[in-house]
Amino acid sequence: MKNHSKTDFETKCVHSGIEENEHGAVVPPIYQTSTFKFKTAQHGASLFAGEEKGYIYTRMLNPTVEAMENAVAELEGGYKALGCGSGMAAVHTVFATLTQTGDHVVCSSAVYGPTTTLLNTVMKKFGVETTFIDTSNLDEVKKAIKSNTKVVYVETPGNPTLCISDIAEISKIAHKNNALVVVDNTFMSPALQNPLALGADVVLHSLTKFLNGHADVIGGIVVVKDESAYQSFRKTLNQIGGVIDPFNSFLVHRGLKTLALRMEKHCESGQIIAEWLEKHPMIESISYPGLKSHPQYEIGLKQQKGPGGMITFELRGGIEAGRLLMNSVKLFQLAVSLGGVESLIQHPASMTHFSMGKEARLAGGITDGLVRISIGIENVKDIIADLEQALKKVEEANSKEVEVHV
Ligand SMILES: *Cc1c(COP(=O)(O)O)cnc(C)c1O
Repeated sequence: MKNHSKTDFETKCVHSGIEENEHGAVVPPIYQTSTFKFKTAQHGASLFAGEEKGYIYTRMLNPTVEAMENAVAELEGGYKALGCGSGMAAVHTVFATLTQTGDHVVCSSAVYGPTTTLLNTVMKKFGVETTFIDTSNLDEVKKAIKSNTKVVYVETPGNPTLCISDIAEISKIAHKNNALVVVDNTFMSPALQNPLALGADVVLHSLTKFLNGHADVIGGIVVVKDESAYQSFRKTLNQIGGVIDPFNSFLVHRGLKTLALRMEKHCESGQIIAEWLEKHPMIESISYPGLKSHPQYEIGLKQQKGPGGMITFELRGGIEAGRLLMNSVKLFQLAVSLGGVESLIQHPASMTHFSMGKEARLAGGITDGLVRISIGIENVKDIIADLEQALKKVEEANSKEVEVHV
């Protein structure tokens, strides 16, 4: 397993997972079918026994799904992949496969919210305990691992703080203790980070984000290193049933062809916008892997091929300033999710996490001024102009408030 070069990757994005088919179609057909005919009773028996390769039933395997799985596996430098109905179905499949009652998980505290909830509710109910720690601190990782730790689960850059964890070092620590390392690589995509090449055992993605890239599919994927891992994950997924369907697989496969191009643009614009925001008077602080001010900037340089398209910043003026910014942007769309061609903006304190209350939000690191943006592929000058006019409104409102209070 090696880190592929950039040129190699661009070509792979276009051609991975595409095989010759009977009519010579350049784009593989969508096999929109739930089931597949057996030629004879013996044929059916040998397919079920695994003696012959072929398709039986779409929950088990489907050619359109498999083509997309093979493409993502190749881009990640993995052996094979398993398409899931959502990123969360992929997360669930991972824990349902790798853990059982009495096992322990070490997980980054900065992970996608529903991943935390899944571990604290569903997995806990089945007797799997989780310790949440700051995985960017290797001493914390060493301390958190117990004799029954089976999985060290890392999301890097993490959500929403964008803190970076050292995949290679964490893999060494985990493997010394017979635990597997699972990396949620959604924020980077295989264009910018290849966790398997860095020592991780399993990689997962929400296909919904950069891999599909067009905000029109919900999907997830698990990438594994070898046949035995593939077999055990496939068995679980087949039983849980959280598979992706042929049409969504087709759309993701189509999206993958422009992944290298899109990620290059996300990074280029992300860097320009982050540097511009860092100097803006209304920005208290900013987190972006491409800025030297990022606390794990050096680790990012070591394991990432680019800073990515996600920026988190702290706005001056608290929750009201955040609300005003949300209501003042024009090009940015107010929406959760990320990784699409369109720029999105989100203010957790007034939107997704408002109902939690301030205290609970702060415990989760969500301050009142925290804003997360996903940089799209629009012209960077238009993106900056939109932020500029919206931040100006916030600045004016803030200065009025100061006058009133004085
Ligand atoms: C969105 C997301 C998920 C969950 O994916 P869904 O497709 O929404 O189920 C998991 N991890 C990260 C980092 C995400 O951004």
